[in-house]
Amino acid sequence: MHILMATSEAVPFAKTGGLADVCGALPVELRRLGHQVSLIMPAYRHIHASGQRIHPTDVRFSIPIGNKTVTGGLLQSTLPDSDVPVYFVSQDEYFDRAELYREDGVDYIDNSERFVFFCRAVIEAIELLDLEVDVLHANDWPTGLIPAYLKTEYAGVPPYEQIASLLTIHNLAYQGQFWHWDMLLTGLDWKYFNWHQMEFYGNLNLMKTGIVFADAITTVSPQYAEEIQSAPLGCGLEGVLQSRRDVLSGVINGVDYRVWDPSVDSHIAAQFSPETVGEGKPACKTALQQTLGLPTVADVPLIGFIGRLADQKGLDLIVGMIHHWPASQPAQFALLGTGDPHYHETLTRLAAEQPERIAVRLEFSNALAHQMEAGLDMFLMPSRYEPCGLNQLYSLRYGTVPIVHATGGLLDTVTNSTEETLADGTATGFQIFDYSVNALDEATQRACALYHQPSRWRALMETGMKQDWSWARSAAQYASLYERIAARRRQQTIGSRR
Ligand code: ADP
Repeated sequence: MHILMATSEAVPFAKTGGLADVCGALPVELRRLGHQVSLIMPAYRHIHASGQRIHPTDVRFSIPIGNKTVTGGLLQSTLPDSDVPVYFVSQDEYFDRAELYREDGVDYIDNSERFVFFCRAVIEAIELLDLEVDVLHANDWPTGLIPAYLKTEYAGVPPYEQIASLLTIHNLAYQGQFWHWDMLLTGLDWKYFNWHQMEFYGNLNLMKTGIVFADAITTVSPQYAEEIQSAPLGCGLEGVLQSRRDVLSGVINGVDYRVWDPSVDSHIAAQFSPETVGEGKPACKTALQQTLGLPTVADVPLIGFIGRLADQKGLDLIVGMIHHWPASQPAQFALLGTGDPHYHETLTRLAAEQPERIAVRLEFSNALAHQMEAGLDMFLMPSRYEPCGLNQLYSLRYGTVPIVHATGGLLDTVTNSTEETLADGTATGFQIFDYSVNALDEATQRACALYHQPSRWRALMETGMKQDWSWARSAAQYASLYERIAARRRQQTIGSRR
């Protein structure tokens, strides 16, 4: 099978979020499973700083955008440590910019035009490169038009009629909505601009377009796939998602254990495995306390958070809980992140008031993120919603017990500690079922009580560390889905010829 992944970002070429991690890692795993895979993305300025060699090709094309014709070309590279080809759609006016989608908090004004061009270029590239594609895997709104072109303009046209399309939704909160006149840029007939297809409250909605026209849809966890079929997490698209629920499913993102594993991690003070966590974790904890300027006490739980300081991540609960944490219960808190200015202010104030108990780092530091995963005892992730989440998966691997809100990927990947799950050895963390400071406080107190029972705590850490959330597992699930939709597409093509 040949899978072409179309994406607006992929590690190591360009990244703003988890989408880039998925698109950098999944193709390599699919290749290992024996599939042919290619990746196609825009040739942003950033790709030249990836460390991978980028080659020119002689492929050029002209694309109709509204009433003008825009020319572009393709560059080529490979994903690191693999032979997976990566094609870059070059069009310097659109893509040779300082950022990917927005600068200084403002979206680029021509985002619809840029990604209409990209989607059409992907379709062109298939023919110009002579790719025999079975499945086109689109990701999020920037690629939402690709399934639409396949089902409309290119329906019944070889080599496109054989291609099945999959759309993966990484975060439904970002939908690519533009004013209705941008319909002209797409070149698609106005008849598709209706509330069943491309229109959403008078606007053009590219995520909705992808959802409507793709042969199948996935999200990055089974639970999120359920949640987006109703309000509020459906973000207004719950109806259209419900109407496609027979082809909607969830596949959890994988972790790159070459990078996020305490037994090989070069950023941390002491490497450790499930067998040596008893010595490794305390060494990493002491080093982290020193780095953060916290008292180096061993038997006080060190509780932390890493991530975007955004409402989505449940920062209001974290701040509320720390604020009311009883002085009688010794605990230390460490927070690493950047984001909303009001959280910067609040956290800075909290740390200044209680420097012996609270450490805050308002920066993006990959090394410190690794050191925190290794040195913390507990990880707070009470996200309001979480399509998949990576930090809880990293935490599990590092013996850092996650305390999460039971939503999306957090519900799917963390097993709540109860008397039963602790007894049968399946518990890996703590879940809150009610989005409130009280619930988070209660769960964290429960975790602290268990922390002071060393053998039970050790068992909890070890169970988490032994979980397998590798890409190999997720890639196998994607592969079987590709097989299914490709087979269905072939049948439909044969059927339509009769
Ligand atoms: P999201 O993609 O919604 O931001 P995830 O948990 O899926 O959340 O992934 C966040 C990723 O970004 C993790 O790899 C996390 O370690 C990293 N990260 C976020 N903020 C920071 C920061 N301030 N410093 C270092 N790494 C960070």
